[in-house]
Amino acid sequence: MNFKNPIYDDITYLKGVGPKRAEELKKYGINFIVDVLHHLPRKYLDRRNIKKINQCKIGEETVIIGKIISKNIKVIGRRRLFQLTIGDETGELQCVWFNGLSWMIDKFNINDQIAVYGKIEFFKGKKITHPDFDILDDNEDNFNTGQIISLYASTADLKSKGLDSKGFRKIIKNILFNEKYIIEDFLTKEIISEENLCSLKEALIKTHFPNDNHEIKKSIYRLKYNEHFFIQLLMALKKHHIKKNDGISFPKRGQFLKKIYDSLDFTLTNAQIRVLREIRVDLKSKNPMNRLIQGDVGSGKTIVAILTAAIVIAKEYQVALMAPTEILAEQHYSSIKEYCEIVNIDCEIITSNTPQKEKKVILNKLKTGEIQFIVGTHSLIQDKVLFNNLGLIIIDEQHRFGVEHRKLLVDKGLNPEVLAMTATPIPRTLSITLHGDMDISIIDELPKNRIPIKTELITPSKINKAYQKIKNEIKAGGQCFIVYPLIEESEKLDLEAADSGYKKLKKVFAGFELGYINGKMKKEEIDKQMQLMAEGKIDCLISTTVIEVGINIPNATIMLIENAERFGMTQLHQLRGRIGRGSKQSTCIMVQHKKTENSNKRLKIMESTLDGFIISDEDLKMRGPGDFFGTKQHGFIKSKVVDFNADGAIIRRARYQAFRMIDKDPLLKNINNQKIKKIFKMNYKHMLDFVKIG
Ligand code: ADP
Ligand code: MG
Repeated sequence: MNFKNPIYDDITYLKGVGPKRAEELKKYGINFIVDVLHHLPRKYLDRRNIKKINQCKIGEETVIIGKIISKNIKVIGRRRLFQLTIGDETGELQCVWFNGLSWMIDKFNINDQIAVYGKIEFFKGKKITHPDFDILDDNEDNFNTGQIISLYASTADLKSKGLDSKGFRKIIKNILFNEKYIIEDFLTKEIISEENLCSLKEALIKTHFPNDNHEIKKSIYRLKYNEHFFIQLLMALKKHHIKKNDGISFPKRGQFLKKIYDSLDFTLTNAQIRVLREIRVDLKSKNPMNRLIQGDVGSGKTIVAILTAAIVIAKEYQVALMAPTEILAEQHYSSIKEYCEIVNIDCEIITSNTPQKEKKVILNKLKTGEIQFIVGTHSLIQDKVLFNNLGLIIIDEQHRFGVEHRKLLVDKGLNPEVLAMTATPIPRTLSITLHGDMDISIIDELPKNRIPIKTELITPSKINKAYQKIKNEIKAGGQCFIVYPLIEESEKLDLEAADSGYKKLKKVFAGFELGYINGKMKKEEIDKQMQLMAEGKIDCLISTTVIEVGINIPNATIMLIENAERFGMTQLHQLRGRIGRGSKQSTCIMVQHKKTENSNKRLKIMESTLDGFIISDEDLKMRGPGDFFGTKQHGFIKSKVVDFNADGAIIRRARYQAFRMIDKDPLLKNINNQKIKKIFKMNYKHMLDFVKIG
């Protein structure tokens, strides 16, 4: 690829930009000339269907072209309204912006030709509120003929050093139609033809200067494909990197598995059996396993992990299970120990609570191999923790750990098998992106003995009835959670609401044992209260959204969620999963304070299903992928063209091609793949942590 190509020059050198403007553009991530081409239109203005003012109908989205007749800023109380009157030969139209900013008045000149686009309203005449607009320029080719015009997010709003929509159009045109700038395709001919893609140059020309909607669609498809292709290429490389390491093969079930299996007082669900089969295939192979089990709370992931461990320990390798919090580690330890005792496996736990002396003994025994199964928190990744022969690591709630944590633990063995678990169901399209380097097993079935949780949606007027229900439940031996929202943007107010809620509840539940935790308390304090709750010493735990994921309190049978409309569906689902874990009927009461169309819909879905995968799919549709990306993955995908809700088919195609490419050419050495490699290294450097491609 020709890197002398001036398209890779600094944006400063582009005609019409210069140093000051370049500085402004760089704030928006436009550093090189080529980046401008990826500043995609925010919207298209379809000027093929322009209406005269007297023809436009109230309520219709319309494009109108006219001259600016007058402009003014009107101050009403604290508000500044900016008004623009435009006219054509048939009449006049008002354009209104609330919160009119001062720069706007300078932007428009009387007698300028302008195209406005928006929904026609009627209030003392025809009017559009916050129209999209486009100041027309006599120099722009055929400005009022039937074209589709791209509108860009302007970088000029404040000081006008940046570029407005028209400015972008101009410089983009200069690049696209200047022979000096070469737009070379990087995808191979093979992929382009197999995927029926248009060329990169074509895609860029037609996204910026389309002739019809079909062209827009086809070119956006190509640009989306690029992004997903590189993400999947990264996943393919990571996966290849892990798989090529020589691991240990565990072809036999060994002496422990059957004994543990026979001791179970339940039968495994079909989903558990299926996942165990998938794991066995991994264990038999000499390539290390790198598998993620996704399964709702209570779906029985732990026993699957224990049975896997039994196979590994039978071959005299060690197993480590890492959990994100002490409580979770303790809970895992106590259930794992029971199984281990049946077959005489030595099992221990280390957390930051373990006394120094005891820790020393444990560390010693780990080194000699005397301890076969170790459970712990982050403590496990400390330098002084050494294994004799670590064969399997199990990571619970894996999204709570960073990649580096996992790597540190993995490095304590020689290519050990890795089994990660998560109770956060995420939609398929997202999981092959976020966990695309892992094999994924799904437990989509709850044990049969589980009684489905009842969900009730109420208004605050029914709250006393709900409190009575809670009291009855506690008197019958149950425990209760009452949850208040705590959202970053309104943290202070939310904390106050939770505090005063707690005060009120102390009166309502006089005579009962209450506990209270909020997101601002010290970790130890929160842990202590959780522990008391787990031991049954608290009847009702009031909290903001800090209840641990994965914690098991089978005795908790009722939960009340205040302001349920303020939670996301995935979050509500996680909360609700804290109850319904025992043999008694559980109830989740969601109190809806504000009714909006959107919240009604979300809460109705919560009422109608307990299936985490259905809920997460709906959540993705309604709220976008933001909630699914942990802070760790923040900034993972920068492109705005990517849309996980809509791109399922593209992701699967891109994944197929990327994995096939790495399968054939794992180091990207093939001459035909050089352009891909260059672009990949240039644009995705921040994601290349553990990948080597020379
Ligand atoms: P999670 O997937 O949330 O980690 P656990 O593994 O903690 O769920 O399982 C929750 C409870 O269900 C445990 O008490 C476990 O012993 C029990 N369990 C697991 N599998 C089954 C099954 N097939 N039938 C009945 N109970 C089961
Ligand atoms: Mg669990």
